[in-house]
Amino acid sequence: MHRWVFVGASTIASQHMIGAVRGRGDAEVSWVVSGSAERVVSWARAHQIANATTSIDTALADDDASCVYISSTNEKHYPQAMAAITAGKHVLCEKPLGMTLAESLEMVGAADKAGTVFATNHHLRCSGSHRAIREIIRSGEIGSVLSLRIHHAVHLPESLQGWRINDANSGGGVIPDITVHDADVTRFLLDEDPVAVVAQTAQSGMGQGVEDSCMSVWTMPSGAMVMSHESFTHPYAGTGLEVHGTKGSVIAKGVMTQMPVGSVTLISAKGEQDISFSGHSLYEQGVSDFLSAVNNTGSPAASGLDGIKSLAVALAVRQAAESGQRTNVDYGASA
Ligand code: NDP
Repeated sequence: MHRWVFVGASTIASQHMIGAVRGRGDAEVSWVVSGSAERVVSWARAHQIANATTSIDTALADDDASCVYISSTNEKHYPQAMAAITAGKHVLCEKPLGMTLAESLEMVGAADKAGTVFATNHHLRCSGSHRAIREIIRSGEIGSVLSLRIHHAVHLPESLQGWRINDANSGGGVIPDITVHDADVTRFLLDEDPVAVVAQTAQSGMGQGVEDSCMSVWTMPSGAMVMSHESFTHPYAGTGLEVHGTKGSVIAKGVMTQMPVGSVTLISAKGEQDISFSGHSLYEQGVSDFLSAVNNTGSPAASGLDGIKSLAVALAVRQAAESGQRTNVDYGASA
């Protein structure tokens, strides 16, 4: 039995991750750690979790718990991950890994040194749709990739309009929230790392002191161009991505989401073809891949290095927007 400590009494944990762990049958959530003594008890009761504490050290001292899932606000990921790694636990950490590149490098370096698994919860690369698109690109069916366009402009539900829209110190803003995902999707699909970006951001009705919308264009080593759009303020835009190659295009609609939904169409000289894909849960797949790594039988869907790189791209996008300059992506020691 894989026993987990959940750090963060969060929405993502309630809505997706507790179920993803319990869905397997060989894993259980043993602890929840929260900053609020009152909330942690009611949260544990609501989710039938045996142990609740405000002290991460107390939970980490449980030798029966080998895995830690971190889904607190972004500024807490680094200290909590470092504590978990020091305690010898395997860590699945939410994106963005840290607030800075240095933090994320240190977290991943510490886990490497400790010999523990460290992974990033980039769920989109766990989805059947994204995996099917990747296979099409890898098969050469659309030829050489010329461009990739991601539109990931959503309307943030009222229940999430807290720190994300008004607190830079907690890691608010659409760039740490959604651009990191788009960076990971791009790296996953194209198997290459953005080298430079140009970007602009806006506060378009929701953000208070942080950006709620962002558009950016990325240079890829292959010469492919990437265009990415993220927002919290678009009620009816829908999400999707398009990959255009010399021999064909893939058009995916409604696939930048937490659910296994949407459609994928391949267009080429042969005509239009609907592509079928697996409808498995994205988060169950992420937990499953993580536990394969813990069991030494596989790799996490998104590694610590993947989390470092998605953060590096997001930080370059923010810097480019602030400076108005084309900005090279700094991957630090992970390059
Ligand atoms: P929430 O705002 O729901 O939770 C974050 C923290 O806020 C919690 O850990 C909790 O702190 C506090 N909190 C939550 N609800 C309340 C409340 N009602 N009253 C008081 N405090 C509250 O965040 P999300 O679940 O949306 O995001 C958490 C992390 O997960 C972020 O890093 C985010 O980027 C990531 N995320 C990843 C997704 C993915 O698909 N990979 C999707 C969504 C989020 P405490 O624990 O101290 O009680």
